[in-house]
Amino acid sequence: MKILVVNAGSSSLKYQLINMEDESTIAQGLVERIGIEGGKLTQKVKGEKRVLQKDLKDHLEAVGMMIAALTDKEFGVISSMDEIGAVGHRVLHGGEKFTESVVINDTVMDAIRENIPLGPLHNPANLMGIKACQEVMPNTPMVAVFDTAFHQTMPPKSFLYGVPIDYYKRLHVRRYGFHGTSHRYVSKRAAELLGRPIEELRLVTCHLGNGSSMAAVQYGKCVDTSMGLTPLEGVLMGTRSGSLDPAVLQFIMNHDHLDINQMLDILNKKSGFLGISGISSDMRDVEEAAAEGHEYSQIAIDMLYQGIKKYIAAYAAVMGGVDAVIFTAGIGENGYELREGVLEGMEFLGIKLDREKNKVRGKEAEISAPDSKVKVLVVPTNEEIVIARDTLELVGQA
Ligand code: ADP
Repeated sequence: MKILVVNAGSSSLKYQLINMEDESTIAQGLVERIGIEGGKLTQKVKGEKRVLQKDLKDHLEAVGMMIAALTDKEFGVISSMDEIGAVGHRVLHGGEKFTESVVINDTVMDAIRENIPLGPLHNPANLMGIKACQEVMPNTPMVAVFDTAFHQTMPPKSFLYGVPIDYYKRLHVRRYGFHGTSHRYVSKRAAELLGRPIEELRLVTCHLGNGSSMAAVQYGKCVDTSMGLTPLEGVLMGTRSGSLDPAVLQFIMNHDHLDINQMLDILNKKSGFLGISGISSDMRDVEEAAAEGHEYSQIAIDMLYQGIKKYIAAYAAVMGGVDAVIFTAGIGENGYELREGVLEGMEFLGIKLDREKNKVRGKEAEISAPDSKVKVLVVPTNEEIVIARDTLELVGQA
């Protein structure tokens, strides 16, 4: 079966067509600037890139363009959209309703809609993507895979905030966690690479990209994670502040006469690497500036290293030990300088890096020293394959 994986954002739509017989990628693409002038589709097939340009009014037109590209006579990969056996959609927020992936029906659509207050930027876009696909492919089964689902195994001591319990009971205020599909993929893959059952392993997974999150995965289940009600909490990120004393908000707002929306905009879009360095939200730019002696770029990097160190040690404590630490996503997979910086001085926990083996970018590798008690792995994430596998499992081998 061929499965189409769709990740719809507010103005973009990423897709990947996967052949489930060998899990190979047939085509992948990105539709950009939906609803904005200058719509564009980029499709890659076997390393060859095609770019199409057309203004796109809405997600429906974007999905139409995607299908047109996939079935194009010259550079398409399927003869008709009937070859698509099912569609797997990435959905940001499943709240407490969804602990695993589900076949999409009206009830599921309603539940995703109910969770809009928890994922105000992403859930509406995800819904638009699903609706557009349903309209274009009315007979194709669709599955929703939630970013939050993997973290639903956390116990209350990990997911509750220390605020009156009424806020949880009435408003569902709690830690949800994100990047669940990635944490799930890399923890399972790490167990395979280590040749040990996941049910025996205590893992700390570090998903470090533009947005970053850490997770404690004990015996195959998430027991704690760093992101919270929203993806703002946790370690320092590209433009997000990560955790801070909430009283900072009141202090800044009173002083600079800001309202809460302006304040949250600063915390989400102008903080993190960008805010501290004043240079860029991108790790590579910040590293470059630091190498040239830019003080606050170096401090931003040091803050991130220290933040990750603290989570690794904290999660080891939560799980009563740690068997492996796994690095993934843009910075985690590629940034060997970061891995070296984070793990320096962590021998006390049994973590010993092999500096030579660590010099790997974007490839699966065991990078701990042979005598390291705790294994350290680089595992490039593959959220699309998890979405495709879940979709296949739920719709069956049609
Ligand atoms: P997103 O969260 O948007 O999916 P990614 O997982 O693609 O982001 O990660 C983007 C981050 O990865 C950027 O900060 C980028 O600088 C960083 N990155 C990519 N390649 C490297 C590299 N070779 N060394 C260090 N950082 C890198």
